[in-house]
Amino acid sequence: MAKRTEDKYVKLECKDCKQINYRTHKNKRILKTRLEMKKFCAKCNKHTLHKETK
Ligand SMILES: [Zn+2]
Repeated sequence: MAKRTEDKYVKLECKDCKQINYRTHKNKRILKTRLEMKKFCAKCNKHTLHKETK
């Protein structure tokens, strides 16, 4: 059985409207870095900065 303990699920929240639009998982290697990426937000109807949240 494959172990997935190395991976941790995180949610990506729109910085503008605080809506959670994306879910992703990151592994141990990048756990320390806070994810931040530009993604499309359907609520804002534009690309906004999405930040990792818990
Ligand atoms: Zn938004």
